[in-house]
Amino acid sequence: MKGNASNIQVKQLNRNRVFRYINSREKTSMPEIAMALHISTPTVLSIVNELEKRQMVEVNGEFESTGGRKAKILTAVRNSRYAVGLDITANHVSITYTDLSGRALNHRRIRKPFVYSDDYFAELARLTEEFVKEWDVPPEKIEGMGISMPAIINSREQIITNSHALGVYNVSCRSWTEKMPYRCDLVNDANAAAVTEISGRRIPGNMVYFSLSNTVGGAALFRDDLGRIKFWSPWQGDTYSLYEGDNWRSCEFGHMVIHPGGERCYCGKEGCVDAYCSALKLADRTEGNLERFFLEMEAGNEEFQKVWEEYLQNLAIAVDNLRMCFDCRVVLGGYVGSNISPYIDRIRRLAAEKNIFEKDGSYIDACRYQKEASALGAAILQIERYIDTI
Ligand SMILES: [Zn+2]
Repeated sequence: MKGNASNIQVKQLNRNRVFRYINSREKTSMPEIAMALHISTPTVLSIVNELEKRQMVEVNGEFESTGGRKAKILTAVRNSRYAVGLDITANHVSITYTDLSGRALNHRRIRKPFVYSDDYFAELARLTEEFVKEWDVPPEKIEGMGISMPAIINSREQIITNSHALGVYNVSCRSWTEKMPYRCDLVNDANAAAVTEISGRRIPGNMVYFSLSNTVGGAALFRDDLGRIKFWSPWQGDTYSLYEGDNWRSCEFGHMVIHPGGERCYCGKEGCVDAYCSALKLADRTEGNLERFFLEMEAGNEEFQKVWEEYLQNLAIAVDNLRMCFDCRVVLGGYVGSNISPYIDRIRRLAAEKNIFEKDGSYIDACRYQKEASALGAAILQIERYIDTI
């Protein structure tokens, strides 16, 4: 029995690796798969036949001959499954969906002030069904939906333990997640955005995502399969785990103190990163409109230029602290991260000046995914859960 069980496991593991390999490429062939994954050609053939029967892989012609028999062109049937992702913030809901490609196929952001009530969640369910219909996603092919929130979430029990942004503390969410039209999981917004970032680009090694939105938070992704929330990056060809901490509170970078006795943070302490690096620090000067802050600053507003320089100085302290803790890439995300590309050299220089080990800030990157990042990450995790079962 034991031998059988492990045979089945090996078979599933190989099937999974073969499918992921095909899915991560626009087209491939059986000899290529056998070579890349070190699996024998007969095993690859048998797995591909099975995936073809399950309509997850299809043959699309033949490659030009390189001497021997022409190899068949294999592609993944990416529209065989879909997932929906939502991102809830205090005043908006973003909704997106993806297929097995993990790319955002559509995205919409609507104004909808958050209220923790049955009516609000019933409306969320209705909106989801409305978009699924509008976007012509076959409901029977939807594997699940993920909901991202600015909250500390006990992901195992689906409990929001703390959300300053939404004013919600210690509530179990199953009563409403079970009423959603599809299987539903909650995820912290920075964790979700980090998943999107690393799923969609090449980032060597481990990664810390520093989320600079109306509150400051973050996520840490380690290149191993030890975490409870795991996913596979097609760019790195490897599994990543989200580090959630012992109390689901990992990477609350906003409440690290960088100036003892400094400005008061909403948490009550003085000198927290949040008090210096939140997007509100800038957007409060332009009635909450961050884009306008950058436009006016770039147009020559000297007061804004001073505010921005101070912001970057404080950000450099925080980023250098993250580099000291984690010794890995730091991706600047959230609302400010989405606008920081033109200033990336400046922040790299400022951070490098503080670093005692290296004189180079090239470990810092601007995020590539912006408004849709959290909603998409919540959807990608659903797709991941499905691919894992193949
Ligand atoms: Zn604080």
